[in-house]
Amino acid sequence: MLGLMQDRPLMISSLLTHAAKHHRDGEIVTRTTEGPIHRYCYPEAEKRARRLVRVLQKLGIKDSDRVGTLAWNTYRHFELYYAISGMGAVVHTINPRLFPEQLSYIINHAEDQVVFVDNTFAPLIAALAPSITGSVKAIVMMTDAANMPSLTLPEGMELYCYETLMAAADETYVWPEFDENRAAGLCYTSGTTGNPKGVLFSHRSTVLHAYAVNLRDAMGLNARERVLPVVPMFHVNAWGIPYAAPMVGADLVMPGPGLGGAELQELMEGEKVTFAAGVPTIWFGLLQHLRASGTRIDSVKSLVVGGSACPEMLMDAFESEYGAHIYHAWGMTEISPIGTYNTPKAKHQHLSPAERRKLDLNQGRIVYGIDMKIVDAEGRELPWDGEAFGDLLVKGPWACRRYFKLDDPNSHDPDGWFYTGDVAKITPDGYMEITDRTKDVIKSGGEWISSIELENIAVSHPKVAEAAVIAAQHPKWDERPLLIVRLAAGENLEEAEMLSFFDGKVAKWWIPNGVVITTELPHTATGKLLKTSLRDSYGGYYLDSAG
Ligand code: AMP
Repeated sequence: MLGLMQDRPLMISSLLTHAAKHHRDGEIVTRTTEGPIHRYCYPEAEKRARRLVRVLQKLGIKDSDRVGTLAWNTYRHFELYYAISGMGAVVHTINPRLFPEQLSYIINHAEDQVVFVDNTFAPLIAALAPSITGSVKAIVMMTDAANMPSLTLPEGMELYCYETLMAAADETYVWPEFDENRAAGLCYTSGTTGNPKGVLFSHRSTVLHAYAVNLRDAMGLNARERVLPVVPMFHVNAWGIPYAAPMVGADLVMPGPGLGGAELQELMEGEKVTFAAGVPTIWFGLLQHLRASGTRIDSVKSLVVGGSACPEMLMDAFESEYGAHIYHAWGMTEISPIGTYNTPKAKHQHLSPAERRKLDLNQGRIVYGIDMKIVDAEGRELPWDGEAFGDLLVKGPWACRRYFKLDDPNSHDPDGWFYTGDVAKITPDGYMEITDRTKDVIKSGGEWISSIELENIAVSHPKVAEAAVIAAQHPKWDERPLLIVRLAAGENLEEAEMLSFFDGKVAKWWIPNGVVITTELPHTATGKLLKTSLRDSYGGYYLDSAG
C-alpha cells in the first residue's frame, strides 16, 4: 500500500520561489567584479532568474544541455544557478584555477554549449576558446555594456553581454515541475591524479543536501544569519550554501573576487556578517590581516572550515582573539559535499578546554542521510574505537552513484558504498578523524603511518609555516616518512631540532627519517598540498642518500 501524501518533486527552483515569497526582504549583497557593492532581495533575484531563462532559451539551451560558468560568487552567478537548473538544463561550474589543459578537457567532456564568464577571466577564456570550439557556441560576459571587455573568439563562437541580453528578455517564464532525479549541476573533482571526474548532481540530491546543511548540528543556517560563502561557487557549489540560504531565508553576502584578508574584513564588518565558510588558507589570510591592522570582525560568530584539516592554532586564534567559533566539517565533491560536521554532544559539556579542543579538531559526526564505515585492505569492516584506521566509505542520497560519462570500476564496492579515497578512524561516539588520503598514507614495514598526523605536529613548531609529509622509498622498510617544510619568514631550522620536536608526540617508528627545507610547497587548484608532485621530486630521497 502506498502512502497518501502529495507527490511533489524536490525542485531547485522551489528554494528560490520560497525565499521570494516568504523572505521578501532577505538580501543578497555582492562585491561585484566591476567594484561597487550591489544589493537586492530574493524577489528581485527570482524575477531576474526567470528573465535569465528566456536568455538561455534565446541562446538555444534545451533540456539537459550543459551550461558552463567561470565565475566568482556573485548575484549573477546565483541567478545562473537557478535559471539553468530551473529550466531543466545543467549548470556546470568550472574551477578557473585548474590548468588550461584540464579546463579545455572538462569543457569538452561536459559538452558545454554556452559558457558564462566573469570579466576577470576574459583573458583565460580567450586563451581557451580555440580548444573548446567542439561544443561551445557562445560566451556570455557576466557584466554590463559599459564594462564589456574586447575579446577575439574563434569563428562561429559568439560573444554576448549578460545585462544586454537580460534587458531584452521578459519575465513571463513559469518554473516547471519535472522528475526530481533529473540532472541539475555538474562539478569536476580537482584531480590530483589523472583527468578530473564529473559529479552530476540531481534536483533531489541538491534539495536534500540543502536540508542537511540546515540541520542545527550542521551549518544550521536560519533567517537571522548573514552568511558569507568565501568558498567559491565553483568548488562544490560553495558547499551548498547558495541552495541552503534561500531555503531558510538567510541573507547572502557574496565576496566576488575579493578573497584577501582586507577585503573580507571590510565586507564582514560592513555587512554585519554572522557566519562564513571557507578553507583554512582563507582564514589564515584573514587572521594575518586582522592582527596586522588591528581591525575586528565582531558580528561574526561562526566560521566553518573544511576542504583540508583545520589547524589547532586557527581555532585558538579566532576563538580567543575574535570570539568566533570554528566548526570543522568534512566532505567532498562526490558527496555534494557535506558528510560530517563537528558539534559536541550533551555529554561533552563538561570537558576541560583542552579535551574540548581535541574533540573540535576531528572532522565531526556524520550528518543524517549519509552513512559511513571504515575497512581494512581486505574490505573487512574495522571497529569504531578511535584507534583502528582504514579506508573510509560512504553512502547516501547526495553521494554519487557513478561519474559522468565514465565507468570507474574501483569507485564503489559491490554494495554501492563509495570509496572516498580518505583514510580515517572513528570514535565510539561516531566522530570521524581523517588520518590520510589513501594514496598518501605511508606503508612502513607493512604498518601504516598517518602523514596528516605528522604534518599537524610539524606545523605546530613555531618556526614552520607549512609542512608536507610524503612516503619516500626506503631500501629496508619499503617506505619511510619524509618531512618537507616551508619555514616562517626569516627563520632557520636544523634537521635535528625539527625531528626531536616529534619526541613523545608519536610512536618512535613514526618519526620521519629526514627533513627537506623548501621555499615553496606545490598546491592543487583547490588549495590542497600536491603530494604527487612532491613524491616525484623527493620520492627517491632515502635511496639517493642511502637511507
Ligand atoms: P574536494 O572534492 O575538492 O572538496 O576534496 C575532497 C577531499 O578534501 C576529501 O576527500 C578530503 O581528502 C579533503 N578534505 C575535505 N575536508 C577535509 C577536512 N575537514 N579535513 C581533512 N581533509 C579534508
